Amino acid sequence: MAKKGRVFSGARPTGRQHLGNYLGAMLNYVALQEDYDCIYCIVDVHALTTLDTTQDLRQNTYEMALDWLAVGIRPEESIVFVQSHVPQVMELHTYLSMVTPLGKLTDLPTFKEKAREQPHNVNYGLVGYPVLMTADIVLYKADVVPVGVDQAPHLEFARETVRSFNYRYNTQVLIEPQMKVTHVPKVIGIDGQQKMSKSLNNHIELAATPEETRQRVMQMVTDPQRIRRSDPGNPDVCNVFSMHKIFSSPEQVKMVNTECRRAGIGCVDCKKLFAENLNNHLQPFRQRREEIAKNPDEVWDVLRDGARRARQIAEATMVEVRQAIGLP
Ligand code: SF4
Repeated sequence: MAKKGRVFSGARPTGRQHLGNYLGAMLNYVALQEDYDCIYCIVDVHALTTLDTTQDLRQNTYEMALDWLAVGIRPEESIVFVQSHVPQVMELHTYLSMVTPLGKLTDLPTFKEKAREQPHNVNYGLVGYPVLMTADIVLYKADVVPVGVDQAPHLEFARETVRSFNYRYNTQVLIEPQMKVTHVPKVIGIDGQQKMSKSLNNHIELAATPEETRQRVMQMVTDPQRIRRSDPGNPDVCNVFSMHKIFSSPEQVKMVNTECRRAGIGCVDCKKLFAENLNNHLQPFRQRREEIAKNPDEVWDVLRDGARRARQIAEATMVEVRQAIGLP
């Protein structure tokens, strides 16, 4: 069946993925393959803008690619590759930077936020980050980019940059990508408060063992008002219940919802039930991951082959871009 167009999406190499990545991006990546030609990129160059050390970069890239493959990204259909393996993106970034007003970059809320977070390292790459992101997308002539609502301004920036480039050089070679706004559920970490994230160490890794998963689940913060087992709880404010709604059967969700409110179920049993359901859910993923991990070279082969295919598209675009600019 003919696909609807080409999707591009990139993610930083953060190593082993967690439940937040799974529900927020990975499942969507898998689903998009049904309708689109997909290009999924591990954006290692972007990571350099904030990393203090690159010592884990290679391993994190490998682990992330492994998780992507295990979850169901199909490299024989989709292009999966590492950003730095396609150097054309740096070239396009440079050309796009010439049509981007500096003030527009320094005004972006994300830049201001990053500058606040790492005042010791407000580097040039951090300022130019949205330009490189635009280059990532338009280099592959992506029609569609899946974004959460909070990332919409970035895509609007990319669209404006494309318009500026095409206007400046009186061309149509670059395509304005369309936004595909996807519902990204906010997955709260085991602290019950903040978004699940590796850096906050409040995450549950997909590739953890069942026992490690159980231990993490048992650490989850529940309804803070429920002190004793005999206190009735409020599932509406409890992150464990939010997870039940995703990973447990409708009957179990109903049971927890009712029994929690009348102290018919304790938090320990409630968490055990969730941990069991989560482990069952992740079991096929973990099995596939283990299989693939037996031969790490295969993962690198996938990434190398992805880069080869990505470079073909990239170079074709760059031939047009250089011509449009009028480079000798
Ligand atoms: Fe949360 Fe379950 Fe405890 Fe209720 S019983 S507060 S839903 S962990």
